[in-house]
Amino acid sequence: MSQLEIKDLHISIGDKPIVKGLSLTIKQGEVHAIMGPNGTGKSTLSKAIAGHPDYTITSGDVLMDGQSILSMEVDERARAGLFLAFQYPSEIPGVSIANFLRAAVQARMAEGEELDATAYYKRLYSKMDMLKIDRKFTSRSVNEGFSGGEKKRCEILQMAMLEPKFSVMDETDSGLDIDALRIVAEGVNTLRGPGLGILLITHYQRLLNYIVPDFVHVMYDGRIVKSGDKNLALELEAKGYDWVKKELAKA
Ligand code: ADP
Ligand code: MG
Repeated sequence: MSQLEIKDLHISIGDKPIVKGLSLTIKQGEVHAIMGPNGTGKSTLSKAIAGHPDYTITSGDVLMDGQSILSMEVDERARAGLFLAFQYPSEIPGVSIANFLRAAVQARMAEGEELDATAYYKRLYSKMDMLKIDRKFTSRSVNEGFSGGEKKRCEILQMAMLEPKFSVMDETDSGLDIDALRIVAEGVNTLRGPGLGILLITHYQRLLNYIVPDFVHVMYDGRIVKSGDKNLALELEAKGYDWVKKELAKA
């Protein structure tokens, strides 16, 4: 079984430390949720794992099956089985979703290996059926004029096609209406299974009403300060983040 291991990770933007020693191990088959107030470093964590050049890892490591991914190029990380939900272009006019996904699948194949078109479409359509996505959807241009929900549908379909071992999904609070939230939840619930580990980062406790995570972690000031099961999310909803802050102040 594979695992994604974040080890005492410290991340800075410029010379400002944002993530200050975060450790977390995700096994294939598990869904972990990270919650936390705004500005606490959640998106910084996901962008650094994705290899975004503005985010400097000053110490610690991120390992997949014991091997550090930090020196890998972004596409190497993807080929190794890591899916990052936001590293994709926001809008590509004139490129259909079907062709975009085909290029994405091709890019993850070994050099010299050719994608068989018939097999590709067969797989695409079976994934779409599984996710209950209309066939017409794939002839649209990537993200062009998409609603928040359609962007999410495109992202989930991409995840289904790439069959990653681990998926890091940062559900920021911008543009996530109830429709988009539902699409993410249904997609994750359909795709979750023994072959996929998910790190779901969210500002929304509400999302966790639809996706029941195996583990919930509360992030505050660049660290995980509390971990538990799905009940922790409910407790947070009832008591708010101030409860966590007060507990920290006492300790
Ligand atoms: P969260 O996702 O938990 O709301 P972020 O990771 O987006 O938090 O932000 C954490 C901190 O890093 C905030 O103080 C934010 O202002 C700062 N920050 C995030 N991105 C940048 C950036 N590109 N340049 C400078 N500061 C940033
Ligand atoms: Mg964020």
